[in-house]
Amino acid sequence: MTNPPTSQGTAELESAPAPIAVLRPLLPPATDVLPFLSRIDASRIYSNYGPLCQELQQGMARWLGAKAGTEGVRVVTASSGTTAIEIALRARALPGRRFCLMPSFTFIASAHAVCNAGLEPVLTDVEADRFTLTPALAEAALAQLPEPPAAVLVVSAFGAPPDVAAWEAFEAAHGIPVVFDAAAAVTSLRQIGHQPLAVSLHATKVFGIGEGGAVITTDGALADRLVANTGFGFASGERVSTERAGNYRISEYAAAVGLATLAGIDAKEQRLLRLGGLYAEALRNSPCRLQHGAGTEWATMTLNVVIPHERLDRTLRQLDAAGIQWRRWWGLGTHHHPAFADLRRTALPVTEDLAPRVIGLPFYEGLTEAEIGRVVEALR
Ligand SMILES: *Cc1c(COP(=O)(O)O)cnc(C)c1O
Repeated sequence: MTNPPTSQGTAELESAPAPIAVLRPLLPPATDVLPFLSRIDASRIYSNYGPLCQELQQGMARWLGAKAGTEGVRVVTASSGTTAIEIALRARALPGRRFCLMPSFTFIASAHAVCNAGLEPVLTDVEADRFTLTPALAEAALAQLPEPPAAVLVVSAFGAPPDVAAWEAFEAAHGIPVVFDAAAAVTSLRQIGHQPLAVSLHATKVFGIGEGGAVITTDGALADRLVANTGFGFASGERVSTERAGNYRISEYAAAVGLATLAGIDAKEQRLLRLGGLYAEALRNSPCRLQHGAGTEWATMTLNVVIPHERLDRTLRQLDAAGIQWRRWWGLGTHHHPAFADLRRTALPVTEDLAPRVIGLPFYEGLTEAEIGRVVEALR
């Protein structure tokens, strides 16, 4: 309930600065999507890897391959980032094993995907500067498990480029398959190999289409299996289930938005990098540090600062008082969610220390320099 405005209340409202939202997604306007929608009217094909979906997969593969300097990239679309992770794990996890190593500090979707793939997450810590699981941390966790895991899920924190070479070496050394939850990293992939990179096409990610996801890999046989896995396990066009699967396809309408997004993606990435540059500059003398490379070396939609312990409560109060919305995008870590509180885990000192202090700031196309100035002022 809000009180009816009094003359004093009105005066206060007038003097209060306009609130600043933490995120305002921006997808292609309807006019950019319309030509693709008209093609659906003509084809009367609405799903099942129709022409728009094929074009989106091939267009994304060309775009990603050119960016990473890699030949033979395949893209398999899926209904969400979460289902993309799930099918990649299903396809790669070693049969007969139960555990999947994954960092506790991630968006909670990672843990749901691991469980939905029939595996039991084992939560590990992360490295403090980049917020990610490293091969050294995974090796330390292996030594504590009663049996070797089926797979490792490596999370790309808020869009940071995953270290594909390091994880290929890990897989070669230990014989444990690696899958990347690169949900927010679609524009920052610098290396693409056989290990599947699952990305999200959710509206809040750089390559937003509303809801959707994709798996990216150079392994053509794996890509074919993933296609089957998104459509009832039907392989090579036959209506015969070759393995347990589901329906994780995207419709032609989703692909239409995807094609419009793809057409503008490089320009969008540049706009976000420009905004990240403004923030990085404004924060140069701030006690709050940005995640390594965030916003400037790679584009993100969720820009976080790490606030020093002794300032945390005061800074959050200052942001609230200034009408500036902030968010702990990943909460306090997977082990703090009731649904996952009983999971096996290693010691998590970095996660416990870092997670409460990683604070998402307002960041979106249309945010002005003056508004960035207000945010940085409130961090002082
Ligand atoms: C966004 C995100 C997901 C989930 O993607 P959806 O498309 O929303 O299912 C998974 N993991 C991470 C790290 C994410 O940021």
